[in-house]
Amino acid sequence: MVTKITNGMNDWFGWFPASIFENDTCFFIPSMANTCVFDTKEGLVIFDVPIRQFAQKTFDQVRSFTNKPVKYIIYSHGHFDHAFGYGPFIEEIRKKGWDMPEVIAHENCIRRFEKYEILGKYHDWINKQQFASVSGRGQDAVVSAHETLNPTIILKGNDSSYSFKLGDVNFEIYHDIGETDDSIWLWVPEKKTICTGDLMVSSFPNIGNPFKVQRYPKDWAIAMEKMREKNAEYLVPGHGRLIEGTEKVRDALSITGEVMHFVHDEVVKRLNEGKWFEEIYHEMLEIYPDKFRNHNILRGIYGCYRFAIHATYRLYHGWYDSGNPTDLFPAKTDEIARELLKINSEEKYLEHAKKLYSEGKKQLALHILDIVAKGTDEKNGEPLVETLELKVKILKEKVNGETSFIAGNIINNATHQIKERLKELKKN
Ligand SMILES: [Zn+2]
Repeated sequence: MVTKITNGMNDWFGWFPASIFENDTCFFIPSMANTCVFDTKEGLVIFDVPIRQFAQKTFDQVRSFTNKPVKYIIYSHGHFDHAFGYGPFIEEIRKKGWDMPEVIAHENCIRRFEKYEILGKYHDWINKQQFASVSGRGQDAVVSAHETLNPTIILKGNDSSYSFKLGDVNFEIYHDIGETDDSIWLWVPEKKTICTGDLMVSSFPNIGNPFKVQRYPKDWAIAMEKMREKNAEYLVPGHGRLIEGTEKVRDALSITGEVMHFVHDEVVKRLNEGKWFEEIYHEMLEIYPDKFRNHNILRGIYGCYRFAIHATYRLYHGWYDSGNPTDLFPAKTDEIARELLKINSEEKYLEHAKKLYSEGKKQLALHILDIVAKGTDEKNGEPLVETLELKVKILKEKVNGETSFIAGNIINNATHQIKERLKELKKN
């Protein structure tokens, strides 16, 4: 049984209808991530194609609006929900004998596709973990990255940009690193529209994702400021609903930029004060301002503030993060647990964990339970079963109180594994 952790995520997943704006010339089509189609006299410009599973549905929706040929496809970045659902569009072009479209991306997008080739199975595993509550735990990959439609117009280096005109409409494309190192965003002045890709996702930005490579808070904040200068009336985010109205667009961009500056600058200040990760992390939790905590755009439903602290620390710091030389070349945690169990019995640890739990100290209870979970011989069935049952109970309560979809899935996946272990233990 797969637990659904989609609270507040309906918009993020695009579970709302497509819409048309700016005098019926812009089509906004949600399908997990958002696709935006600009209808010009000379043909269509598509900003982001959907995840492969929704390609046909999105194609059919585009074709219910217009029959014009696709001239340009722009990838905001190379993630599977933004650059893989091109199939039906290309098939149509081949069938009708139209010219192939230009495909625009940053050069790092090509490197990303190469990375997916060498790390295909690993990325399948990551995506299954991250999206377990909606994709299930079956064997099917969320998407196979082995087939790609490669870019024909490639932005190179930092601060790169590219512009073109189609049917009297200007399209300005800018590269700024943020969620990824291949991010690009689009400004269409005649349509007063900005397409941000995942630099905006109707949640706290997905920075510091526990599974993913480095993200860039400072540059992300600067990208938000550059976008704000455009004074757009419409903002098409990578996920979530269209943001309409100059004030709302400016507010969304401002607060997102501001929180990125905040988390970046506060972590940097503490690094300069000689603090290690644990101290920085817990201090940062204490000082998080309510204006960010309570802002609708920054709800931690996908990414979250806690992850952002990790992202900034990791940007400037190596893997030795505790300042304690014991941790430099540590022993195995199950060996440490076995030694602790020589000092006191499983029953004593379990009793103490129960006491902590009854006092509402759930996280501390988990640490104590792990000594029994890791250090007990499987033959010592009873305290181990009780330990794992209490751990499952606490983790379930944590999932219920967890706002972040990603964190919820991580905890839920682990809970599922513990339950499987419990089944085995009870059999023997
Ligand atoms: Zn996305």
